[in-house]
Amino acid sequence: MSDKILAVNAGSSSLKFKLFAMPEEVELFQGAADRITGPGDGEFSYKKTGEEKVKLSLNMPNHEVAIDKLLEVLVESGAVTSVEEIKGVGHRVVQGGEFFKDSVLSTPENLEIIESLSSLAPLHNPANIMGVRAFSKALRNATQVLVFDTVFHQTMPEVNYLYPIDRKFYDNHKIRRYGAHGTSHKYVSQTTAEILNKNIADTSVIVAHLGNGASITEVVAGKSVNTSMGFTPTGGLIMGTRTGDIDPTVITYLQKVTGFDADGVNDLITKRSGMLAATGFSNDMRDVEEAVENEEHPHHAQAVVAFDMFIKKIADFITLYAADIIASGKSLDAISFTAGIGENSSTVRKLVVDRLAILSAKIDEVANSTRGTIDITASDSKVKILVIPTEEELMIARDTVRLQG
Ligand code: ADP
Repeated sequence: MSDKILAVNAGSSSLKFKLFAMPEEVELFQGAADRITGPGDGEFSYKKTGEEKVKLSLNMPNHEVAIDKLLEVLVESGAVTSVEEIKGVGHRVVQGGEFFKDSVLSTPENLEIIESLSSLAPLHNPANIMGVRAFSKALRNATQVLVFDTVFHQTMPEVNYLYPIDRKFYDNHKIRRYGAHGTSHKYVSQTTAEILNKNIADTSVIVAHLGNGASITEVVAGKSVNTSMGFTPTGGLIMGTRTGDIDPTVITYLQKVTGFDADGVNDLITKRSGMLAATGFSNDMRDVEEAVENEEHPHHAQAVVAFDMFIKKIADFITLYAADIIASGKSLDAISFTAGIGENSSTVRKLVVDRLAILSAKIDEVANSTRGTIDITASDSKVKILVIPTEEELMIARDTVRLQG
């Protein structure tokens, strides 16, 4: 007998959801509510599997209104006959700090810990908690499970998560590398092992999660060993609007020359930097690629340099992690691309792999031009190159079932 499990991701003004029949892992229904809390009406969209997408304009002053609407359309569309059928709700929680080494059941104590970690993820954790509270109220009989973005990276060794600052800052303030996108890196590395037809314990894989937020993870024997994001998701690669790694004194110097306080500079490096600033016009990779191709584009010259910076940084991290795998006496089995850019941009994949000559990695251009889960390895490549669409919601649903008992 299958259970209906809802996987949700509550942001400060958004709510994304997917309903699965478990353990069959069949996706029944999905959608999102955007611009919750306004201003004005927000957009509520949903799609029952096999049917057309429905888009509604809806005033949603808070998340409860969006959740009530979701429960209403779940029944109305026939995805469930009654909301009582939903046995579990799995929630994405961005920052679990060092407290959580696995997903957990939602309890008042666990929510309190997540609240106490809010200073490490001020945009995300409070919104995630709000989602858990609202769903707990709306679906009193469903098990609420918390699935953390950081858990997968808790296996990193000290040498990769400590920063070279006084140890007391780690001891007293927990300043260290946490990483993010853990659920995606876990799913993609597991799926990579399946595609390679190898026991995960015998695999060494590099996962490139390239979306608006982007990170690269070195996964050995199914465990995260190192990852490009750091204390917060601003570190590592050049992202849509985030700087990625940068000389730390740029920050203090910026404070001096702009007069911005810490929050002001934080806003600058997280929301107004990255590809948006480097190209001078857009953080959307489709726009950037178009500007690179079109010499008449007003931002062509800037876009060319920004795009090169973006590609080079990805290849740099892959090379670094590959070298670490090889130095530990293992060989790199595969590089797997995922997320919005990794899944959709054949150009980004090609240019990145072209920079990996040191690994004798080569792409098959015909395979690279297709979509879905694909092996894009050239016949003379020493490393497998894969594209694997990420399934964070499915991972959340799996953990919800596992913890339901
Ligand atoms: P996030 O979840 O971090 O918001 P996504 O994984 O949804 O990000 O990825 C969003 C990014 O994917 C955007 O930069 C978008 O431009 C890029 N993207 C989507 N489709 C394509 C495409 N066909 N070619 C290039 N980039 C694409």
